Amino acid sequence: MGNLQLSDIRVINIKKDADHTCHINAEIVIDPTTCKSCNTGKLIKNGSKTTLYRDIPLHGLFVGIYLKRRRYKCKDCGATLYQHSCEMHEKALMTNRLHEYIYKNAFNKTFQSVADEIGLDEKTVRRIFKESLTPEINSYKPITPTILGIDEAHLIGKARCVITNVKEKCLIDMLVDRNKVTLSKYISNLPDRHKISVVSIDMWRPYHSVVKALLPHAVVVIDKFHVVKLAQEALEKARKSIESALSHKERKQLKNDRYLLLKHQRDLSEMEKIILYDWFGKFPQLEQVYVLKEAFFCIFELSDRKKALAAYDTWLTLIDDNVKVFYELVAKTVSNWKDEIFNYFYYQYTNACTEAINGLIKLINKNGRGYSFDVLRAKAILSLQSRKYKERKTFKRYTQFEQKSQDV
Ligand SMILES: [Zn+2]
Repeated sequence: MGNLQLSDIRVINIKKDADHTCHINAEIVIDPTTCKSCNTGKLIKNGSKTTLYRDIPLHGLFVGIYLKRRRYKCKDCGATLYQHSCEMHEKALMTNRLHEYIYKNAFNKTFQSVADEIGLDEKTVRRIFKESLTPEINSYKPITPTILGIDEAHLIGKARCVITNVKEKCLIDMLVDRNKVTLSKYISNLPDRHKISVVSIDMWRPYHSVVKALLPHAVVVIDKFHVVKLAQEALEKARKSIESALSHKERKQLKNDRYLLLKHQRDLSEMEKIILYDWFGKFPQLEQVYVLKEAFFCIFELSDRKKALAAYDTWLTLIDDNVKVFYELVAKTVSNWKDEIFNYFYYQYTNACTEAINGLIKLINKNGRGYSFDVLRAKAILSLQSRKYKERKTFKRYTQFEQKSQDV
């Protein structure tokens, strides 16, 4: 323990107390040579001061370094200065390595758990994390992708816009809300936006109008998962309507079996099929809705736009009057967004990665407990952006050593 691996610090003595703490008495071994104020003056010793700096835990003990710093006075200009250790963060009163340790660990752990581990309070950890995060996030330069994804996630009490690189499956940015003005401002500031050839969105009008106005060359594709979700919602509506007429016991049963209804037929086990067909026997209407849902999914598994459009037209004719009420919204939405929905067959990109990214952001937020939007955004971007975006060092040949010699 005598060597702290701190380059300019020498340990004088160490005291461990019963309180999981290690107190280290130490001094700085390097002296200043000239005055910092006048740059020329000779320095004379003028007392000392001991300052407590915190350090990373050692063998499970909290560490405090009581660092003796000599004071000097300049013979010429009279200025005073103290010895300075290059290992110490003067403002935070801790070692630079503890400062770094806090920042790195606060990325994956809660502020409180980092605070508990090093024996500091949660506020200090939070402040250091924020201070270190700000320059890093401010230097973050998003790279404009060719396939842009725009989606949203409900975070800290509000729907936030989530911008992704669909091809690389990674997060580009998070916007404070999903308003037209916010998104317009963001897209206008994207460098090289002519590079964007496809934009995958959900059926949120403001996204569409911003893209049309600012990226007129790009093709809009409605994310397939948002489209097929419409049919699932129709099915849920039908189930709930049937449930409302059931006894309490049956209602509970049907509610429990709802995940079978949402499953694809091909994924059902024999047992699950029996359960489902039992419900269909009792409620033929439920079977109709289920079959329509399955058929709707099939449309989006076709390989060709023309076939898909024809299949969709056929699908519309299959909706009987008695289940029409459940599928009205699906038909209306598809008709409103037909081109963009069926553009999927030209550009088979979906925002599926965004769902996964949203899940991760939610997890970061949950673990963070009480992040501000800015901190959440920074943390999400810095931990979820693609590794491909970070510059990689590679070996570059030194060709001069490889030139063929003429004189041998
Ligand atoms: Zn001086």
